[in-house]
Amino acid sequence: METQVLIIGGGAAGCMMARELSRYKVDVTLVEKRPDVGFGVSKASNGYLYWGMSWNVSIVLKSIVEQIGGATKEAEHKKEEMNRRGYELWKPLLTELDIPHLWTPVMQLATNPAELRLLDMLEKETVARNMPYRRLNKEEILELEPNVTDKVIAGLYDDSHGWYNVYPWEQVIAVAENARQNGIKFMLDTEVIGFSKNGGFQIVETTRGPIKTEFVINATGADAVHVARLADACDFSLQHFKAHTIITDKKTRNLVNGSVAILAGPGRLKSVNPVQSGNLLISSIYTPTDSPHDLGTDKALMEELFGMAQDVLPPLSKKDVIAYFAVSRVYSARNPDEYIIEFAPKNPRFINMVLRMPGFIPMPVIARNVVGMLSDHGLQMTKKDDFNPYRKRIPRFADLSSEERSKLIKQDPRYGHVVCRCETVTEGEIVEAIRRGANTVDGVKFRTRAGMGRCQAGFCGPRVVEIIARELNIKPTEVTKNGGNSWELLCESKELLTTRKAVLA
Ligand SMILES: Cc1cc2nc3c(=O)[nH]c(=O)nc-3n(C[C@H](O)[C@H](O)[C@H](O)COP(=O)(O)OP(=O)(O)OC[C@H]3O[C@@H](n4cnc5c(N)ncnc54)[C@H](O)[C@@H]3O)c2cc1C
Repeated sequence: METQVLIIGGGAAGCMMARELSRYKVDVTLVEKRPDVGFGVSKASNGYLYWGMSWNVSIVLKSIVEQIGGATKEAEHKKEEMNRRGYELWKPLLTELDIPHLWTPVMQLATNPAELRLLDMLEKETVARNMPYRRLNKEEILELEPNVTDKVIAGLYDDSHGWYNVYPWEQVIAVAENARQNGIKFMLDTEVIGFSKNGGFQIVETTRGPIKTEFVINATGADAVHVARLADACDFSLQHFKAHTIITDKKTRNLVNGSVAILAGPGRLKSVNPVQSGNLLISSIYTPTDSPHDLGTDKALMEELFGMAQDVLPPLSKKDVIAYFAVSRVYSARNPDEYIIEFAPKNPRFINMVLRMPGFIPMPVIARNVVGMLSDHGLQMTKKDDFNPYRKRIPRFADLSSEERSKLIKQDPRYGHVVCRCETVTEGEIVEAIRRGANTVDGVKFRTRAGMGRCQAGFCGPRVVEIIARELNIKPTEVTKNGGNSWELLCESKELLTTRKAVLA
């Protein structure tokens, strides 16, 4: 196989890069080792798109930057500029790509003198950057957010920039679908395992055979060091910080009107954020970890995180929790503020593209910059006349009016069959998700929300397995949660009976 540019990694970075390149007459292929896009760190991200006062929160709580060391003003400024521009570029993108999102105002609170000092620092940074905000007293805070702690003594409010709450997998899937529409080739379940050179070309060895290419973009996130080393293209190292996240039931949605947080000290942002689906998302505790793939949750940390959310919003109860998970964020070990976007020193046709947090916000800017880097290094970049920036999402039955529902059911009666009762997801949506590339239970879940409700797939799980098996013409025992050997079913029960009989005999 031959391609001009090979992108390795189908996360937020690789997919946005693919979409950006799909504007040009260039042959591009993306390889991803998992069976779907966004199954790496991106799926477990918070996916918030923010600017304004919220940006300054990380400046006040600089704890990761301080833990790693090596930060420079230049890298901090560059990071800030890319995120400012990225936030602006996302606004039209959300519409063009029909990505569901919820915009909310943001409130930062203080409940004691130590927190007040941090709030004052936040105000100073916000004024220094000429960003709009309002200082609120206790009465004003409780009028806007009646359920937050009554210990609150002061607050800052940003209702001009605010915060776009977007599910990260919906961003990645939308961007990938649009890139595919515009001619990018996606090879899923394809892992890069080695590199060699052939004249001016690079030969990338994959689990599906070699690919000959001019340029390589290494967008493998937490695996970037491993992949760059395979190509002798690594002069950086990464540090990993594990972050825990909790999701609450939709019935908690009305407890807040926007994102609410307390700056409580280094590494301690007590925050509660409503997301577009109606749930609340609680996250922020992070701890150093050696393994990029350390997904283990820690009971004590979860309890602590939940307690921090209750400090902001006392009516929250543990009974409201419906899901929780952990995942690692990556940071460059040489400078925690930097995004590693550069040609490898020993290979002028190999770009390392490693995103620190936030990675979604600056991605449209980074993708444009990389196009410039490729062009500077000799890749002919001619714009296509027929690039189509629009994609349409799968209709979400739960969000439609009665008339829209009836119309859809008339066109396809499978939209009249509700499979996931918690999220009101129909068979029609699931079949459409599979048609668009979902081949696992998670792939269906991320495209339709089937299994994301209170019962966490307790009821719809088996039905989704059945539909995937039927549509892909495979056995139910071959259906996986997210690829590899994550089978949903161990074997057929009759098979089990025969094995048992044989053992007993
Ligand atoms: C808890 C948390 C919260 C966050 N919140 C935000 C936020 O609110 N806003 C924001 O902007 N950013 C946020 N971020 C940061 C953002 O999520 C990341 O920067 C972004 O998702 C990184 O995307 P990526 O494509 O670089 O990595 P990934 O999504 O991990 O993608 C890398 C891909 O490469 C594939 N791969 C690896 N090795 C190989 C190989 N050998 N061959 C083929 N494929 C391979 C992997 O399977 C994976 O799919 C958050 C991050 C975390 C962890």
